[in-house]
Amino acid sequence: MATPTNPFEIARETLRQLAGRRIPPTPDNYLTLYHEIAGSKPTANAFPEPQLRSLAGALPKSSPDQLRLARQLDEAVKAANWEAYQKHLVEFIGALAESQKLSWSTVIADLLRQWDAKHPGLTAARKRESLEHVLASSGANPDTLFTRLQGLLRSWGQGRDAEKTDTPESADSEIGRNFPSTAADVDLLPELRELFAFTLDTAVASQLPEHPTLSGDARQLAKDIRALSGPAQLAEFLTRLKRFAFKLELLAEDQAQLRHSLLALLRLLVGNVSDLVLDDHWLHGQIEVVREIIDKPLSQRALDEAEGRLKEVLFKQAQLKASLVEAREAIKQMLAGFVDHLADFADATSDYHDKIESCAGKISSAKDISELGNVLGEVMRETRTIQINAQNARDELRATQQKVEASESRIRELERELEATSDLVRHDQLTGVLNRRGLEETFAKEIARANRHETALCVALLDIDNFKKLNDAMGHDTGDQALIHLATVCRATLRPQDTVARYGGEEFIILLPDTPLDEGRTALTRLQRELTKKFFLHANDKVLITFSAGITQMQPDDTQASVIKRADAAMYQAKQTGKNRVVSAD
Ligand code: GH3
Ligand code: MG
Ligand code: MG
Repeated sequence: MATPTNPFEIARETLRQLAGRRIPPTPDNYLTLYHEIAGSKPTANAFPEPQLRSLAGALPKSSPDQLRLARQLDEAVKAANWEAYQKHLVEFIGALAESQKLSWSTVIADLLRQWDAKHPGLTAARKRESLEHVLASSGANPDTLFTRLQGLLRSWGQGRDAEKTDTPESADSEIGRNFPSTAADVDLLPELRELFAFTLDTAVASQLPEHPTLSGDARQLAKDIRALSGPAQLAEFLTRLKRFAFKLELLAEDQAQLRHSLLALLRLLVGNVSDLVLDDHWLHGQIEVVREIIDKPLSQRALDEAEGRLKEVLFKQAQLKASLVEAREAIKQMLAGFVDHLADFADATSDYHDKIESCAGKISSAKDISELGNVLGEVMRETRTIQINAQNARDELRATQQKVEASESRIRELERELEATSDLVRHDQLTGVLNRRGLEETFAKEIARANRHETALCVALLDIDNFKKLNDAMGHDTGDQALIHLATVCRATLRPQDTVARYGGEEFIILLPDTPLDEGRTALTRLQRELTKKFFLHANDKVLITFSAGITQMQPDDTQASVIKRADAAMYQAKQTGKNRVVSAD
């Protein structure tokens, strides 16, 4: 009989032979006999696609790792690749077991280590509080507790400790890379969502008080992300978020433009003021400083400083104007008086001249002595009158002169007053850095800023070494130049946000915001080094200026006075132990 080719015939023949050969009709026997009859080969281990697909579909998909596994399994099913399917599944379960096995011993060891370690800005009390919070909020669920503990320790151990914490995980190279702290990521999502909403609600919306529509948008987005569920809503939310970000970007551009225009206006103003006060060099210096400040990138500090300097300029300008008006008035009066008297005098002398001429005529035509007597009497009268006139003119001229002198001395007095009120201004006129009054104001602002941002503020007191000797050897003017030099090097070496102030004769105070003590010390050491490089030149001779300094960090219960006192004590110690050094006071 010919070999059947039709599947129906093969099936019929298979059944017939199963019965004929008395072979038990199991699926396997049927399959073997079927292929024997059909002359085909049974496929070794047929790939159970539907089963594997349904297994992959039934696995949970609520974390990134689970989603990744589902994708890997799906690909393996599509490629009918049993090896890949098996590998992914085994690896996933292996990592899961590994992570659970690692968990508690690692986390407890980590907790012990981080509990004792010092973390900047984290007190023991704050650690206890956050640990108690984690225990209270997740104590009932070991998985949640584990995840949250891990998160807490990670947040404590940022920086060097964080790197160490990461080591055991990354040591398990392959697994570590594929399954980074699975549970933690899942649990972080709601927290991230809340954090994002909080940022929109608190940080973004409150930054937009002048843009109620935008700040309303931010609050609405915050509300929506809290209530968000499902991919469709998420997609819609993302579209709106993008639109919002775009609007914010436009607003930022507008504000940059506004700032640019304001600055241009300020520059124009500053330029005009400097034209108005051509004669006062001190003012020129001040105005230059303002110009320099507004030419740099803007900051609150730079603006405060520019404001202070401008106030000084305006104050001094008002003073100068008053004395100028007075001087002009006095000169006008003097000139008017002088011209009046000249005219009077001219009138009187020409009158006198005419009279004397007529007297001379009368004398030459006189016929007897009695006529002469009359003429002489007239001459005497006229001469006395002119004499009195001349005397009057002289007296009045003298009075005017006295008035001018009085005005002059008033101007000088005004100038002296101006000098005396110079402590109303905030900058030292010799060096251009802040004076004591300016320091007091800036110091108060820096303390408030440090408290607000919870940052460290360092305060240093510098005193030039052997300054009296320098004055004695080279003269007071050279001493002044040396002070200017030191102030200039300080300004050039320190950061823009640092404050330099002249505290007394050859003593300076430096404020270093956002700087812990060791960094402050380093900054002062750098300043010392810089002074040896940028030496001070006197008549082409290099003069080395050194200083001794005390530095200390502001403490919560410090006042300006107490912190300066501590810096002063440290400075004194630097002097006692050989000068040209920096001593920190803890
Ligand atoms: P030490 O190293 O111990 O600080 O010695 P010193 O000579 O620097 O200190 P001392 O306090 O004995 O002298 C300070 C000198 O500074 C005395 C004073 O004449 C001078 N001085 C103070 N203010 C000025 C100023 O504005 N210009 C000049 N040229 N000298 C000043
Ligand atoms: Mg001194
Ligand atoms: Mg000194």
